Amino acid sequence: MVNEGEEARVPIFRDIRRYYCEYCGICRSKKTLIDRHILTEHEEEMKEKERNEEKESGKKLNICDECGANFQKPAHLKQHMQSHSIEMEIYYWA
Ligand SMILES: [Zn+2]
Ligand SMILES: [Zn+2]
Repeated sequence: MVNEGEEARVPIFRDIRRYYCEYCGICRSKKTLIDRHILTEHEEEMKEKERNEEKESGKKLNICDECGANFQKPAHLKQHMQSHSIEMEIYYWA
């Protein structure tokens, strides 16, 4: 049983879709407007963000499945993974 009064029965015809600038939070009704705004107002920030994302995805390549530790180089991760398998062997034979 739902009775929430007049307001709830009024259908919403407005297009309430809004796009927000992820840098300064301004609101636009079209994504193209936001894209253009970002290109003109936040070009440097956008480049900076892309650089950071590249760095982060680079890091993700060397994350240990066992404990989540991450390493600068794949070789370090490999070495680290070996220490895990040694630990497991010790545990098994103990
Ligand atoms: Zn902005
Ligand atoms: Zn680990």
